[in-house]
Amino acid sequence: MHDRISRDERLETGVVYRKARGLYDVRTRDGQVQCSISNRLRKELVYPSSDPSSGTRRGVQSVREIHMIDPVAIGDVVLFAPAEAGRGQIREVEPRRNTLSRSIVDAKRRGGGREVEQVIAANVDQVVAVFAAAKPRPTWHLLDRYLVGAEASDIPALICVTKLDLADGERTRDDTAVYERLGYRVLYTSAKTGEGVDDVRDALRDRVSVLVGKSGVGKTSLLNALQPGLGLYVKEVSRSSGKGRHATTHLEMFPLDIGGGVVDTPGMKVFEPADDSTDIAYYFREMRPLLGLCRFGADCSHTHEPQCAIKEAVESGDIDERRYESYLKMV
Ligand code: GDP
Ligand code: ZN
Repeated sequence: MHDRISRDERLETGVVYRKARGLYDVRTRDGQVQCSISNRLRKELVYPSSDPSSGTRRGVQSVREIHMIDPVAIGDVVLFAPAEAGRGQIREVEPRRNTLSRSIVDAKRRGGGREVEQVIAANVDQVVAVFAAAKPRPTWHLLDRYLVGAEASDIPALICVTKLDLADGERTRDDTAVYERLGYRVLYTSAKTGEGVDDVRDALRDRVSVLVGKSGVGKTSLLNALQPGLGLYVKEVSRSSGKGRHATTHLEMFPLDIGGGVVDTPGMKVFEPADDSTDIAYYFREMRPLLGLCRFGADCSHTHEPQCAIKEAVESGDIDERRYESYLKMV
């Protein structure tokens, strides 16, 4: 009898927008459902032991190599069994198109070097790297880090310059020209004058975007300019959930009125390419075609070796010096 019921059970599909304390908000065409996850999925769920909310530390002892903390992430398309009163239970996670992750060091084992990977979001359409034209002034190597992370996750990246009203527009464009030459789209905006806000709106429409950028660059103001109140709402949620014991367990995607959603990553060290067997130069678009042309081939670290194709390209001006400096900071 029970068998038959479960076999005939109708599953519905939706997208995970928010997770907190073991519950997942799933959006469907008709509304929102708060879901738990099935026991089968729960068995795959592993908490980092540094997270006090993990309580019994269930699963931690039994799993030696931890790769994923949570089998269900923001942006996942899931199949759930609907129950009463807007509740449900997630049974299946559809295959992911891509994932954007961060690593969390297990604090109790620091030095033991155990890192766990947390998926910030799945099925991401784009990473939006936000930085200010001035106040604070641009940190190029940070921007390059974001771009490398996006390349490593195979997710398109978009660059958004804010506070254009505080800087000399022409100089800013000179500074960012290298990125446009590499094929990255750069949006120039000011929440104060409204410049470029429509471009940002068009770029975000109907897409899942992960915003990265340090605090103070104007993400809140930009989101407010896009959709009144959105920035403040995001900031409020981030403030109450972004630190302390929920920092590793709470993640949220904020739906946009125009379709799509944004995931904010306040203060997160998002991007450390997880796979360290790959030459980081591979994630620099302009260096990629030169790999293998160095005298020492795949053994070249592009730092001190003679006849290094990448160093030669820097010297001839084909590779931007600032980009190469970022590379050096990352290796
Ligand atoms: P967040 O920390 O990235 O969310 O940054 P906020 O949006 O809170 O902005 C930080 C500061 O920069 C605030 O004092 C804002 O008023 C200011 N700010 C944000 N955008 C602009 C802008 O386009 N022009 C100017 N002049 N100031 C801005
Ligand atoms: Zn080299």
